Amino acid sequence: MGKYWNEEIECMAHEDMKKLQSERLVKQVKHVWDNVPYYKKLMEEKGVTPDDIHGIEDLHKLPFLSKADLREAYPYGLLAKPLSECVRIHSTSGTTGKRVVAFYTQHDIDLWENCCARAIVAAGGTKDDVCHVAYGYGLFTGGAGLNGGSHKVGCLTLPMSSGNTERQIQFMQDLGSTILCCTPSYAAYIGETVKEMGIKPEELTLKAGIFGAEPWTEEMRHEIEKLLGIKAYDIYGLTETSGPGVAFECEAQSGMHINEDNFIAEIIDPDTGEVLPEGSKGELVFTSITKEAFPLLRYRTRDICILTREKCSCGRTLVKMCKPMGRSDDMLIIKGVNVFPSQIESVLLKISKASPNYQIVVDRVNNSDTFEIRVELNDDMFSDTVKSIEDLEKKISNDIHNILGIKAKIRLVEPKSIPRSEGKAVRVIDKRKLV
Ligand SMILES: [Zn+2]
Repeated sequence: MGKYWNEEIECMAHEDMKKLQSERLVKQVKHVWDNVPYYKKLMEEKGVTPDDIHGIEDLHKLPFLSKADLREAYPYGLLAKPLSECVRIHSTSGTTGKRVVAFYTQHDIDLWENCCARAIVAAGGTKDDVCHVAYGYGLFTGGAGLNGGSHKVGCLTLPMSSGNTERQIQFMQDLGSTILCCTPSYAAYIGETVKEMGIKPEELTLKAGIFGAEPWTEEMRHEIEKLLGIKAYDIYGLTETSGPGVAFECEAQSGMHINEDNFIAEIIDPDTGEVLPEGSKGELVFTSITKEAFPLLRYRTRDICILTREKCSCGRTLVKMCKPMGRSDDMLIIKGVNVFPSQIESVLLKISKASPNYQIVVDRVNNSDTFEIRVELNDDMFSDTVKSIEDLEKKISNDIHNILGIKAKIRLVEPKSIPRSEGKAVRVIDKRKLV
């Protein structure tokens, strides 16, 4: 096994890839038109039929799909295959509204697992590895996706799921886990626990981690790499597009290669819907050109991102997406200013005495927004003098003000007092929404 899972595709000349995408798009549009009345209606409203789509140059003629469409069409409205041909369902957590369910035929599962296999191989995985999957299993796509990819590669797969962190670490030691797959916040938590248990990173056999399903910063990457003694790779995906593996990071760690044989990526202006030239910052839109059961055309991800086609040192020619720079729906508007939690995390990780565990609490008092950031002290700092704690508070407050342009009330809290998450971390408590 080489450096790639599918060299022919991963290193395909761009012109050939465009041809492949065009052929698959034409076929997919026809499949959706014939089988998904919901999308056919959207096409009719836009005055477009499959005869207007000859290749990727015509992609912009198709209507968008949004999360609102998925909710409206719940549960079967976007299904393109009879249920008798579907073999699995996955679903979003539904924390921000009605759940989104996605359907898979066996063909869809195979495509998805191959995408995850590409990610594992790009992180240095081979059949000699022990792949420790600590993403949640069940309706969530994280566990199932990486589990399937790990099987394809031939790794010894540990289907740990999340939770029971000390047992996870015990297994890592006993069975010699070499690749860890989980959310970045859980990886950081495992790292902290390893440290607390008095285990040095070099006593573990881990060499790489594949982390995704929530936003994380470069600073957090360095933190995890240091805590666990590994190289940390990013992976991207959405339940709506099958799950993790839509894009994956290579050894260059400078953006994620999109599996373009399965997904066509576009960047649009989120306000006007206009397609922006490559290199522009805008909203990421995906068209799945190989999925049978749940083939979304021009699905708006809400992720703000940039695509680049610069030559990558790994040899792959697949276009790269940067780490999402925030989700347009995760963005908080506080006192009229756009605030992404990732901006706050960056500030905290640059201050050595603060820990990266924080919570943003927003409320509205007398028609005015209140903005508080709870930051956990680390153990050393907790026993420090009142004066130095006050200095730290001031430093965080100033740095936040410099970055965001608004002031936040900083509240330093005791070590371990912010609840830890075994899945996605709860970073924002927006009490304004509860009214
Ligand atoms: Zn690369």
